[in-house]
Amino acid sequence: MRRDNQHWAALSAPPGRRERCDAQGLAEYRRTFLADNRLSEHWTRHNRTVFTIAEIGFGCGRNFLLTWDLWRQRRNPDEGARRLHYIAIEANPPQRAELSAMAAHDTELAPLVAALCAQYPQPLPGVHRAVFDAGKVILDLWWGPAEDVLADLRQAAVSLVDHWIADGGRGTLTAPARLPPRWDQPWHSSAPPASVLVLGAGLAGCHTAAALARRGVTVTVLESGEPAQRASGNAQGVLYTRLSHRHSALTDFALASFDFAVRQYRDDFAAGRLREGLDGALCGSFHQVQDRRELDRMRLLLTTVPELAQVVDAAQASRLIGLEQHSAGYWYPQSGWLSPPAVCAALLRQDNVTLQAGCGPLRLMRSGQHWQAVNGDGQVIAEAPAAVIAAGTACNTFTGLAWLPLRAIRGQTTQLPGLNALAPLRAALCHRGYIAPARAGEHCIGATFGPGDCDPALRPEDQAYNLAQLTAALPTLAKALDALEDTPLAGRTEWRCASPDYLPLVGPVPERETFIQRFAALRDNARQPVAAQGVYHEGLYLNTGHGSRGLTSTPLAAELLASQLCGESLPVEPETLRALAPARFLLRDLGRNRI
Ligand SMILES: Cc1cc2nc3c(=O)[nH]c(=O)nc-3n(C[C@H](O)[C@H](O)[C@H](O)COP(=O)(O)OP(=O)(O)OC[C@H]3O[C@@H](n4cnc5c(N)ncnc54)[C@H](O)[C@@H]3O)c2cc1C
Repeated sequence: MRRDNQHWAALSAPPGRRERCDAQGLAEYRRTFLADNRLSEHWTRHNRTVFTIAEIGFGCGRNFLLTWDLWRQRRNPDEGARRLHYIAIEANPPQRAELSAMAAHDTELAPLVAALCAQYPQPLPGVHRAVFDAGKVILDLWWGPAEDVLADLRQAAVSLVDHWIADGGRGTLTAPARLPPRWDQPWHSSAPPASVLVLGAGLAGCHTAAALARRGVTVTVLESGEPAQRASGNAQGVLYTRLSHRHSALTDFALASFDFAVRQYRDDFAAGRLREGLDGALCGSFHQVQDRRELDRMRLLLTTVPELAQVVDAAQASRLIGLEQHSAGYWYPQSGWLSPPAVCAALLRQDNVTLQAGCGPLRLMRSGQHWQAVNGDGQVIAEAPAAVIAAGTACNTFTGLAWLPLRAIRGQTTQLPGLNALAPLRAALCHRGYIAPARAGEHCIGATFGPGDCDPALRPEDQAYNLAQLTAALPTLAKALDALEDTPLAGRTEWRCASPDYLPLVGPVPERETFIQRFAALRDNARQPVAAQGVYHEGLYLNTGHGSRGLTSTPLAAELLASQLCGESLPVEPETLRALAPARFLLRDLGRNRI
């Protein structure tokens, strides 16, 4: 999609300008729409798992709501498609209040409208995925002008669309012709694999397992140690995103993944999969910002997305978090904190997911049509047609993956007792480190940042550093925090796994040598387009490099991988797909004549 630095200018039209939001006459419209489209006949005859519908002009979502309602009532569980994927394109996203108005006119649709409102994304350009009915129904909302969005969709999804709804359900649109091959497109419309191995039970592996399990895939998670004991083992972490007045793949992914993660975790709390206060709380987070110019630039842009973030002064921040602040910054009302081990445990409890822990370091071998997981004794402990390596910093120890440019960054966190002085804290506070409201009587504060530091010891000077940073962020609490100076505090040392461009590595694993040969022309001219398809190991995928933001980035990364593995339309734009693809580093190194 075309973007400029003003892509924040959120897409929304004044309600009066919306053409199809008139909820009056819905009953009549329902009859015409259903008769015209004969959807239940189509999906009952459908011979693939997913039935995909695309619509230009989401309006107030009535076509989607009617389709979803029909799907719930009339889908035959023994025949035809098992899941519904609805893709809608809209240049002027409706506001949540406009959607709610639909419920007043059609009580039958009211529960669906409420569910849609709960999963409703920010009005930022790009694609936003909403997941309903435990993954049986997916809605992709593409906010943007139809011509731009169709150009993006053509690259990935158009061949997957089974039914087009256009002109309010009265016309159809021909799928555009095929495009030339590209390096980032190894997947194709195919049946989902019956089973998948996921190596690593941290946030990346557990979210991947859950996203596949939602699609009915049988997943075996294989963990060398115990789940969520490495980077995902801290008691508390904050849901971060990244704001910038400049457009970049990094900011786009940070915003898209934050929006998706917030909606997914909110759903987990609402459904009781996560427990408020113990497993986390979406209580908001305040981020101190010292750069006044940046705040001034963002203030105006953020007025269009107040649910995402707001610029607040120190007095407002103090009221929001419950403790005195001397700094202005960003307030993220939907953010908060989570306990990564609790998130992993909830994900592993899903149907279709089996955990095998304590396996020791595993390696993968290809045998016929399967990937086999082999333990230190050379025994095959599991096999499946597809495998996802989600082993954090250990990903480049797998055969053929030593080239992955992963960096291990040491971080030490400190467990702080729940002091009376900290009791009023009711939201997360991010300064050079972070603190959240207490969990089980303690705050997990942190963290140090040590690229290239391999020391596993819990260092007293790092504990002192964490306390000093907190004192600087909350100067009025200096006395209470100073009193802890001589108290031995517990803590943890772990390593974040980062990539050189700070984006995770998510996608199919390239066959390095063949890939390099095919794109060798880039050595002469890094900018010339090479119209060739990428070469990838069949059924082998990677999910790592989540740096300091794994709580935020892993849900969307997992959804992307599951969509790729199952041959579905993708939940990210083509530009983001390429920015995340592990093969990007081979292209980069060819262009720089390093390989
Ligand atoms: C100090 C610190 C503070 C952080 N704070 C935050 C925060 O506030 N907010 C936030 O969003 N993020 C934070 N992060 C980052 C976040 O924790 C990570 O991005 C995330 O945990 C990465 O998850 P992962 O699954 O990729 O890696 P990991 O959690 O490391 O999981 C990888 C798993 O693979 C297993 N494994 C390795 N090799 C093999 C093998 N050969 N076979 C089988 N299994 C294998 C490992 O045992 C491990 O369990 C922080 C990280 C650190 C270190």
